[in-house]
Formats: sequence, C-alpha cells, structure tokens
Amino acid sequence: MSEISEPAGPGLVFAVDLGGTHLRIGLVDDTGKIHKHLRRQTPKDKTPDALIDTLASVADEWQRANYGPIIGASVMVPGPVDTAQAVVLSAPNLPSLINFGLKAVLQERLGWPVFLENDANAAAMGEMWLGAARGCRDVVSVTLGTGVGGGVVLGGKVWRGAHGAAGEIGHTTVDPFSGLKCKCGNTGCLELFASATAIVRMARESLEQFPQAMLSADDLTAEKVYDAGRQGDELALSVFRRAGKYLGIGLANLTSLIDPEIIVINGGVVNGWDLFAPDMYAEVGERGFQATAKQVKIARAECGDNAGLLGAARLAFDETA
Ligand SMILES: [Zn+2]
Repeated sequence: MSEISEPAGPGLVFAVDLGGTHLRIGLVDDTGKIHKHLRRQTPKDKTPDALIDTLASVADEWQRANYGPIIGASVMVPGPVDTAQAVVLSAPNLPSLINFGLKAVLQERLGWPVFLENDANAAAMGEMWLGAARGCRDVVSVTLGTGVGGGVVLGGKVWRGAHGAAGEIGHTTVDPFSGLKCKCGNTGCLELFASATAIVRMARESLEQFPQAMLSADDLTAEKVYDAGRQGDELALSVFRRAGKYLGIGLANLTSLIDPEIIVINGGVVNGWDLFAPDMYAEVGERGFQATAKQVKIARAECGDNAGLLGAARLAFDETA
C-alpha cells in the first residue's frame, strides 16, 4: 500500500534546502502538505558532484516509489543567486557552488525544470503562503540564526535586487563605532548584535561585569543564555535586551525604507522572543518613520523550519503555472 494518497492539483515539487550543515528535501503539494521529508548532513566534501549525486539518488528513490507526478525541483541555497543565469553568486558555507551552473546540471540529471532561490527569500514566500504573513503582499522575513538573513517580497513577488542580494539586513550598519568587524568586511553590522553568535559573544564579554551570573565561559551557547534569562539571570537578560535594541534599530530602518505590512522573524534566536521583543518594539516605535512604524506588524514566524521548503515549492508552482 502506498504511504500517501495521490495528491490533488498540479503535482508535487521536489523542494531542497541546501544548507552548509544540513540538507533537507521535501515533496510538497500545492496545498503546502509535505508528503515526504528527509533531513541529513550535507555531504562532507560538499563538491557539486557529491551534492548532485545525493539529490539525484533521493529523487530516483522517490520517483520509483511513485508518490505522485513531480513537476520540478526548487533548490534553496545559502547565498545570493543570479536567477537569470541560474548561478549561485556567493555561498560562504558552500563555496564549491559559487559560479557553478547548478540549475543546468541538475536539470539534465533529474529531467525536471529546476529553480534556484536564496534561502531567506524562500522563507519569506513560505510565511506569506502559509505562515504569519498569510494574506499580505509586502513582506520581509528576518532570520536570526548563526547569522542574520533577510528576504523581501513586494507585491507578492520576491524582490531579488539588481545583483541578487536584496534584503541583506544582517549586513546593514547599526553601530559604526562598536569597533566590531563583520566577516562581510563592514563594521557594526546587525548580525554582530542579533544573531545566535552575537548572543554568545555578548554574554561572554559581560561575564566580568556580572560576577553573580549563572553562566560560565565554558561551552556557552545561545540556548544556555536564553535558559538563564528565563530564570531571571541579569547578565542573560541584559544580553537579550541589547540584541532587541539593535534588532529594533535595524527593523526601524527597514520599515522606513520598505514600508512592509509585516516583518516576520524566524530562526533559532526567536525562542528568546519574550526576552528581546519589548526592546525591539520600543526602538521601532522610537526610530521608525511614524506613518509606517505605527502600522507595521512584527510577528514570530509560524512555519518553523519548513518556511523555506514551502516557499521554494510555492515559487516553483508559480513559475510552472
Ligand atoms: Zn556584515
């Protein structure tokens, strides 16, 4: 007996999240139901050949199992994409893909149309389709993870920018005098204050100031800082308040520039929402252009880890409609 019922509608999209550490693949129908799902480590050598072999073997297996007609593959990558040329422009965690013609090679191998998209843009589409931004057309999604990413949807369409790199809110400057250098080359980027990496760094830097803190420098993680904050630890609370302030500065700038209906926040750091959101809202209220800052909604994401897979699938359905 088949594991699933035959999907209604136009078939299934083979949606892929090609992350630097994890690879996730789903078979998604046009209602957003994920019929099959697989998560595994990204192949260690991370060469294009190894990645393509992995995707092709899963595709073969799922095709043989006959879950339903697959209309295409939609692949998200952790970096800007030139969608016209179908080339990955930059991917610090998967450097072998840079300037590699992933779309053409995959298309040849799988025999389906293949679409490439930046992961943050796909997440924004996913939240607009089935998450916190349902019914909205002007949406920004901000991912607070190891770094800080952003995806922009305007008028219901992904806004990629002239060079495929729109929405890089994590690399907008929120504190030019901090002396902190970002891996992008700039100083004082939002990512240096509102990412999981930043939470750990700020906690470590504050240890001397808070001798009573529950935290120690050993094996410090953002989760540990969050747990301490939930228990009222002053150091942890001050770190999240600081992250919230800087995030609010970034979101105020974003709001004044783009005037979105909603900003959806996702990523691991969003678990600390209760600890950083009051300061975030306060900064947006204080610094944002009044006509927009008063009305913009800022909400937690609802699709969790699936936002990208769902958004990638939605993009493929739109492209093949
Ligand atoms: Zn930066």
